[in-house]
Amino acid sequence: MNERGVSRVAVIGGGISGLAAALRVRDLMPSARITVIEGAGRLGGKLYTDEFAYGRIELGAEAFLVRRPEAKRLADRLGLALDAPATTQASVFTDEALRPLPSRTMLGIPADLTALAQSGVLGPADVAHVNDEPDRPGPLLREDIAVGVLARQRFGNALVDRLMDPLLGGVYAGFADEISVRAALPQLAAKLEHTPSMVVGARSLMGSGVTSGPVFNTVHNGLSALVELVAATSGADIRLGLPARELQRRPDGWRVIVGMSRERQMVEADSVIIACPARPASRLLRSVAPHAAESLAQIEYAGVALVTFALPPGTSLPPGSGVLVPAAAGLDVKAVTFSSQKWGREGTPIIRASLGRFGQERVLARDDDGLAELVIRDLLAMGIKVPTPIATHVQRWGGALPQYFVGHLDRLEQARRALPEGLAIAGAGYDGVGIPACIASGQRAADQILTRRVIR
Ligand SMILES: Cc1cc2nc3c(=O)[nH]c(=O)nc-3n(C[C@H](O)[C@H](O)[C@H](O)COP(=O)(O)OP(=O)(O)OC[C@H]3O[C@@H](n4cnc5c(N)ncnc54)[C@H](O)[C@@H]3O)c2cc1C
Repeated sequence: MNERGVSRVAVIGGGISGLAAALRVRDLMPSARITVIEGAGRLGGKLYTDEFAYGRIELGAEAFLVRRPEAKRLADRLGLALDAPATTQASVFTDEALRPLPSRTMLGIPADLTALAQSGVLGPADVAHVNDEPDRPGPLLREDIAVGVLARQRFGNALVDRLMDPLLGGVYAGFADEISVRAALPQLAAKLEHTPSMVVGARSLMGSGVTSGPVFNTVHNGLSALVELVAATSGADIRLGLPARELQRRPDGWRVIVGMSRERQMVEADSVIIACPARPASRLLRSVAPHAAESLAQIEYAGVALVTFALPPGTSLPPGSGVLVPAAAGLDVKAVTFSSQKWGREGTPIIRASLGRFGQERVLARDDDGLAELVIRDLLAMGIKVPTPIATHVQRWGGALPQYFVGHLDRLEQARRALPEGLAIAGAGYDGVGIPACIASGQRAADQILTRRVIR
């Protein structure tokens, strides 16, 4: 038992956030009894590597940022071999053509105006308007605002529609005009309290020189290897296929009711880390922390589907790692990754397309063949003609990506303040959607329940 009287910890949700939390609990308290309660039949949540067409592919996330240290540090600690992409040059589909995505932008906000002009993504008049932005006066950031709304004021519509929207769409499956600048770009938002210029803010954060090394890495054997090793190293008792149904307060801590009605089980714990998406987290908190539950219930999610094709050997694809598609292009596909090219894998060419944006998920109601047909149609519209795939896989992710709407950070703070002692929340719904941010979120939740320091 530690200084806070904790010896039994339950973690609800066996995605990377929950597993990172479990491992941190083990690091801080080697004798802890840790139980990870996972509703699905496997660990990993949105990290899911599986066999497909003579190889392994990622059916969810495919890589992690290395400029944020948490994921790489964890993989290095566990001795996992990492791969860097063979190419990171992506394109964006604008004006009926594939154009190179300009280098050195923060989710589309340019730090390098020359690279933006050379990319051809904007016409000369729009480039000139963006070039003037650093000298244009404007109010300092006082209140949260949607990053696209702010950027339209600073740059005009073209940069938002052609560059920011597809980049934000790739990360959040949402729209620039709805996503909070404070939540999506917290460091830039802090700069904008002192300068009105988004270019000046982006430049000061990205530095003036070219940073060396790849931006992304992935695990050589697939991200599921990371999941399995984190789980094993945590030494937690892993309970699969047992959704947490209810959380009850007990005189000596907490009781989690898990499983279907006939096979209900109880897990007793001194502290509970709730590391599932915001909606189930909200349901679990309803009776024990209604204010926190109410705040979390406001976090919306977008559904997405990934369609992966294995193509006949020798199929020729456009150069680079893939294509981002602005919503304004009017297609259903929002991004295509030339996976085999991106990761320098010989053999069967693999491409994967992503569909589904927040509020526009009706496209996902189509059956698998219908989705595959849509992808072929949209590829053709972009000038990418592919032969009949030799294999197709469709992966649907309902409730895939949280939407950090304006005011997200305030709602989150309210939720955390309303949590009783012994409960903490972690996950993509709160502190960042990327894998490193999820790991940090899980670690922070573990710190919160195990140390006297209360971290909001
Ligand atoms: C298609 C896609 C591609 C992505 N690509 C990338 C990428 O390339 N790089 C990157 O950094 N990020 C990427 N992301 C984001 C990143 O993968 C996720 O944000 C992250 O993996 C979420 O981890 P998590 O543990 O917070 O949540 P999840 O992975 O959602 O895990 C939560 C777990 O909780 C379980 N659960 C839910 N309810 C209950 C309950 N009542 N009881 C018990 N268990 C429950 C779920 O089954 C799930 O296993 C991608 C996301 C998606 C959807």
